[in-house]
Amino acid sequence: MYFSGIQPTGKMHIGNYLGAVRNWVKLQQTGNQNIYCIVDLHALTDKLTIDHEIKFDQNTKSDTLSLAATLIASGINPNKSIFFVQSHVPEHAELQWILSCVAPKNWLNKMTQYKDKKKEYSTLGLYTYPLLMAADIILYQAQYVPVGLDQKQHIELTRDYVQRLNSLFKLNIVEPQYLESTCPKIMSLRDGNKKMSKSDTIDGNRINIDDSKEEIFEKIKRSKTDSIPQIYFDQDKRPEISNLLRIYQAFSNMSIEQVIDKYQTKTTVDFKRDLSELISNELNNIAEKKKQILQNQNELEQMLKIGSIKAREIASKNLRLIKENIGLLV
Ligand code: ATP
Ligand code: MG
Repeated sequence: MYFSGIQPTGKMHIGNYLGAVRNWVKLQQTGNQNIYCIVDLHALTDKLTIDHEIKFDQNTKSDTLSLAATLIASGINPNKSIFFVQSHVPEHAELQWILSCVAPKNWLNKMTQYKDKKKEYSTLGLYTYPLLMAADIILYQAQYVPVGLDQKQHIELTRDYVQRLNSLFKLNIVEPQYLESTCPKIMSLRDGNKKMSKSDTIDGNRINIDDSKEEIFEKIKRSKTDSIPQIYFDQDKRPEISNLLRIYQAFSNMSIEQVIDKYQTKTTVDFKRDLSELISNELNNIAEKKKQILQNQNELEQMLKIGSIKAREIASKNLRLIKENIGLLV
């Protein structure tokens, strides 16, 4: 069984697509059970802003529907996979509470995502994010978790929780494994050492799945490169061009060597133009399908509800077993 999730925060970008979603689509062909979740409760961790005034972004509903349509347009098939919204299955939050009581809080201290995302006024939710993610995975006893490289540490923490539950309560929960994607991490277009992110406030740092052809050409044109005219891969000394090469490789299904070979005698301008063309061809196709899906919002919502009923069947059974074992009256 494969489980994975994606947050309805802002706009889905090519990092999510190449690092996670495209892999999910491929996994649907393996004949295994796949469960894919729009993790809206996770998205709440980053909705509060305290500036001159206190605000809470309340757009999660429309972001959820938009992301659901994007995922289906990208190839997630609700007839092959269980596809649902996290907050429709209350067991996720319930198990998170139980997990928060079976291990010391310092288990969370070394989590790098928190260190990268924290602000002066960070919420408790952002700190306990990995616990909710562990609950998501444990609830379905997922064996494999296909996520981007940035989430690997959270999977390792989930394994620690599984071991703790199994040893304390004589449970036999499956230890989940991180399933690496062929394209594990896409970096920001202007900083080769920072990952591309939905929550990045600068839109030019990423290519969104919804970007128009013109926007894609403009963003790639303005993306950072160095003054060396040749195109070659060097992660340490040339992280930005290496990132563009990785994106080219992923969209073309060529190897890095083949890409370098092709552009040996060409300029960065040529390379960037071809790369923009390649990306926009694939993304515009998805955008067209997405538009059609969003024309029937009722059908989309209905489909997500059916997904949550299927998910709940599994989740409630597994949670009941854990509750019984830890000594609650069920
Ligand atoms: P946020 O900035 O709000 O955390 P995000 O871009 O990191 O957003 P998530 O919803 O947190 O997106 O992650 C969804 C999936 O996409 C996860 O599997 C994550 O590992 C993967 N992912 C996110 N960013 C990248 C990236 N830059 N390269 C490859 N995979 C990524
Ligand atoms: Mg993230």
